[in-house]
Order: sequence, then C-alpha cells, then structure tokens
Amino acid sequence: MKNVMITGVAGFIGSHLADKFLKEGWEVIGVDNFLTGNKLNISHLDSDSSFTFVEADVSSKTDFQQIGVGNSLDVVLHFACPASPVDYYKYPLETMQVNSYGTFNTLELAQKMGSTYLFASTSEVYGDPEVHPQVESYWGNVNPHGPRSVYDEAKRFSEACSMSYHREYDMDVRIVRIFNTYGPRMKLDDGRVVPNFIAQALRGEDITIYGDGSQTRSFCYVSDLVEGIFRFTSFKNLEGEVMNLGNPDEYKIRDFANIILRKVGSDSMISFEPLPEDDPRQRCPDISKAQELINWQPETSLDDGLAATIEFFQGIL
Ligand code: NAD
Ligand code: UDP
Repeated sequence: MKNVMITGVAGFIGSHLADKFLKEGWEVIGVDNFLTGNKLNISHLDSDSSFTFVEADVSSKTDFQQIGVGNSLDVVLHFACPASPVDYYKYPLETMQVNSYGTFNTLELAQKMGSTYLFASTSEVYGDPEVHPQVESYWGNVNPHGPRSVYDEAKRFSEACSMSYHREYDMDVRIVRIFNTYGPRMKLDDGRVVPNFIAQALRGEDITIYGDGSQTRSFCYVSDLVEGIFRFTSFKNLEGEVMNLGNPDEYKIRDFANIILRKVGSDSMISFEPLPEDDPRQRCPDISKAQELINWQPETSLDDGLAATIEFFQGIL
C-alpha cells in the first residue's frame, strides 16, 4: 500500500485530500497544528486504520523530527499554511515560517525518504498579473514588501526552495499553483469571498464588496481540485513540473455577489468597502498544461458547487 504525508490535513483542502487518497487505497499520515484548521474536518477519519494524525508544528524542527514515518514514504504533500488573506494578515510570521522552515523540514524528509514532493503554491505568485489568463511561464507582478507579501513572497520562496532540491538532489519535486478554490469545510469566518458572501446572504446581512467589484476571480470546486492534485501527484514523469490548477470560468466580484444572492434567495443589500492593498485586479488560470499532461479540467458547474457549499454553511450557521 502506498503512503502519503499531508501537512495542513485539518484544513479545508488538506482534509479533502486525505479523503481522496484514502478512497484511492493509500495510507495517510496527516500533520497539523490547528493554527487555522479544524479538528472537525478530520474527525470522521478517527476510526480509519489507514489514517494516522500527528499534531505538530511543521515549522518546528523538533516537532517535525518526532513524527514517525516508518521505513518508506512515497509522497509528501506540503499544504500547511494559512490561506485566506484574513488569516495570513493575522499570522504573518507563522505564514512566512511554514513556507521557509516548514518547506525545508518537509523537503529534507522527502529527500531522506526518496519521496515525491508536491508543494502547494498559489495563483498569488502571479501577484497583480499583467498577463491574462495566467500561464505557468509568467513570472508575476508582486509587491515584495506589502501586506500580502507574507503570503506571496513566502510561496515564491518555497517554489525556489523546492526547485533547488530538485536540481541539487535530483528529487522528484512538483509544484501546483492553486487558484481560488471553494467548497464544504471552508471556515465561515475565514474572510474569503465565498464564505463571506454566503454567510452574509444567509444571515440577511449586507454583502460586502471590496472596491467597485470590477476585479475578477475564477472559482474551482474542491473535488475538481483534489482530483487534479491526485493526478499531478501520481502520474509518472512529471518531475520538476509547475502546474496551474483552477477553473477558468471568470467572474467580476460584483456579478458573483448577485449570483450568490439569487442562489441563496436572499434579499441582503450590497455595501461597498475599501479594496485591500494590492488586491489583484484580475485572475484566471490558463489550464492548457493540466489538460495536456494530466488530462484534467474542472467538471463541477458553479451552480452545483455553490449548492453543495451553501448546504454545508446552512448546516453550521
Ligand atoms: P486552511 O487554512 O484551511 O488549511 C491550512 C492548514 O494548515 C490548517 O489546518 C492549519 O492549521 C495548518 N497549518 C498552518 N500552519 C501550520 C504549521 N506550522 N504546522 C502544521 N499545520 C499548519 O487553508 P486551505 O484553503 O486548505 O489551503 C491549503 C493550502 O493550499 C495552503 O498551502 C494554501 O496556500 C494553498 N492554496 C489554497 C487556495 C484556496 O483557494 N483554498 C488557493 C491557493 C493556494
Ligand atoms: N472580496 C470582497 N468581499 C469580501 C471578501 C473578498 O469583495 O467580503 C474580494 C476581494 O477583495 C478579492 C476577491 O473578493 O478581490 C477574492 O477575495 P478572497 O479573499 O476570497 O481571495 P483572494 O483571491 O483575494 O486571495
């Protein structure tokens, strides 16, 4: 049986990844310190003998070295990191640490064990992009010291670090650049646009649009993303590849607000608030590489994905 270590397993994406790998017959070692994650996201795995959970800070060498991994470790997925702007503004240093010390710790382990290593990067490495849609060969337009840099630059550092291990040790390293993903198990209060708008619409509160709402995002449902990550991890001959995964269906945020209002059947009003500093004006993935190399594209419509997400939030409100 193959085995995988997933850091950030109690988070939104990490917990869905654990479900996917277990369903595919893998053993999963999940690591998390609950900085932004939630025990409830993995409580359904308590009695699964193929799942082992270790509470540890990935950025701490002492914590990390105490994790027992046995004689073999096929894959390491480094997903631990606060991911919503609200979270990484709240934990700026932890965000930088998990993408530096944490990246080194996980890379060292993967090198020692001969594991395939997949780093969870982000569309944020493109910053406020001047190339649209964003293709992997674009180097980005990032403010190196603004408030978002604790995330953007840290992820860029992790990419550089991962590729250095690939070049230095001929390690099988892969980098996935994840675009805005949504679905059940997101935190109601994590500040990202999907939970914010759905919670506001369900509660009858004002929908808060930052800026004039003309900025764009494209939204990928979590099961599609997880399928893409599984393929990117398990397909052969992809060493050293960097790959966008996301949904190229692009919306202006003000149009997205109206979609949520209609879908929830809410009569909430819309209010406008200041645009956060360095908020990217446009974002949409070019997914031709994923289509070509792993035969992947999103399958879930926004309508279906939102229905499942709204149902989840109704259950926890
Ligand atoms: P999340 O906050 O739900 O999950 C992150 C998890 O990492 C949490 O459970 C948190 O407790 C854990 N964590 C943080 N620091 C840790 C540390 N030092 N040691 C151990 N655990 C730690 O976020 P998410 O949306 O699931 O994102 C997961 C990964 O995917 C992140 O690396 C993020 O940058 C990346 N990503 C996500 C999106 C998205 O749209 N959700 C987009 C781009 C990239
Ligand atoms: N946004 C918004 N209202 C909110 C939350 C977010 O208008 O209540 C905007 C935000 O300014 C950004 C987009 O929605 O332009 C996506 O924000 P999110 O925090 O989800 O992710 P980002 O793509 O910025 O990391």
